[in-house]
Amino acid sequence: MISLEEAKEFVLSGLAALAAEVVALDQALGCATSDDVVAREQVPSFRNSSMDGFTFRAADTVTGTTRLRIVDSVMAGHVSSMHLEPGEAMRIMTGAPLPEGADTVCKIEDVTLEGDDVVVIPRHIDLGDCVRHPGDDVTIGQVLVRAHRELRAPAIAVLAGQGLGSVRVHRRPRVGVLSTGDELALSNESLRPGQIRDLNRPLLLALLRESGVTAVDFGVAADDHDEITQLLRGAVSQCDAVIATGGVSVGDVDHVKLIIDELSEGRARSMQVAIKPAKPFAFGLVGDDDTPVFGLPGNPVSTRVSFEVFVRPALRILGGHELVDRLHVLATLDISLPTPDDTKTHFVHVSARVRGDGRIHVVEAAPHFSHLMSSLVNCNAIAILAPGGSHGVGESAPIIIVDADALGDP
Ligand code: AMP
Ligand code: MG
Repeated sequence: MISLEEAKEFVLSGLAALAAEVVALDQALGCATSDDVVAREQVPSFRNSSMDGFTFRAADTVTGTTRLRIVDSVMAGHVSSMHLEPGEAMRIMTGAPLPEGADTVCKIEDVTLEGDDVVVIPRHIDLGDCVRHPGDDVTIGQVLVRAHRELRAPAIAVLAGQGLGSVRVHRRPRVGVLSTGDELALSNESLRPGQIRDLNRPLLLALLRESGVTAVDFGVAADDHDEITQLLRGAVSQCDAVIATGGVSVGDVDHVKLIIDELSEGRARSMQVAIKPAKPFAFGLVGDDDTPVFGLPGNPVSTRVSFEVFVRPALRILGGHELVDRLHVLATLDISLPTPDDTKTHFVHVSARVRGDGRIHVVEAAPHFSHLMSSLVNCNAIAILAPGGSHGVGESAPIIIVDADALGDP
């Protein structure tokens, strides 16, 4: 057995971000920038009102209550052709450009009108009140998004605010998935004796989509050396990374680990990692492009753990992301999760909730068997437990949060 750290180091150390490319802004959500994105336009680009109200010269109001003559009205998106003179005011709406000569706005709720032509400003208004200035939000040359940051909705909006239709990002990884095993039936087939349905491929395709990469389905291969080799070769030629499940353990037909070794021409390792579940694991770099190929254990819970531990961080590196690991936090155990003294780190799917004390608690755990998948449906975190620990009620344990929204579930 090798340590989790050693296995992870073996996987991640050979990986680098995919090349950068320019993509349309509306296709860039979730991608990582390859360079700092620098503002070329200031925002706002003109002085404008932050309120619906009246604009005038602050100097006109120094004596307190002031009556001003209304000479024009400016809506957002329109420009007054007039120059505002002393003693004058204009109606102005939020976002409308201040007319020349004006320097201050008083909001509509604070004024009174005398007919259509006169507005009464009730008190002295400070110079520049309710005025937004050019560059208040963004100045030219400002770094809007640092290199290797994931583009989220606010970043997309800020780049759109620069008039940018595209952005330079690391290519979104294209990741192929295949399942292996003579026993696997497709989900639309009826089961023959001894057959089970393929859970891993749908699981991985969904995990990949959740991770913001492009998932490609390569189907199912029987436990057949040539068939798996052919499918893997095809997947490698079309993808930036490939994940196969099944066939990496010590069974008689566990071909996948051997095939990854053959295809990678010696740059692969078939490992027994000191974790439970997901002990067997194979990884190699294949072909001229050093395409990472992962061989994950067949039990679906193991597949999930292996994905979180090895695959997701690897894909984050390929995608050029600065943040590679998922959020780990310490949670209080409301249930006890004792672990055997077996030198393995235990990954236990759990339900975590924020309780009345405002802290995250582990309130329930899935059974510790790697073939029992259905209880994972209600889990939103994976506890990382050292071997030989009592992990008793009230103690704390690190958890990987895989669904933060569910922390608030009743
Ligand atoms: P293996 O890693 O090939 O030895 O498989 C370990 C266990 O996982 C066996 O019980 C397999 O039947 C099961 N298994 C393998 N692949 C899948 C899959 N795609 N979906 C569901 N179970 C699987
Ligand atoms: Mg198998």
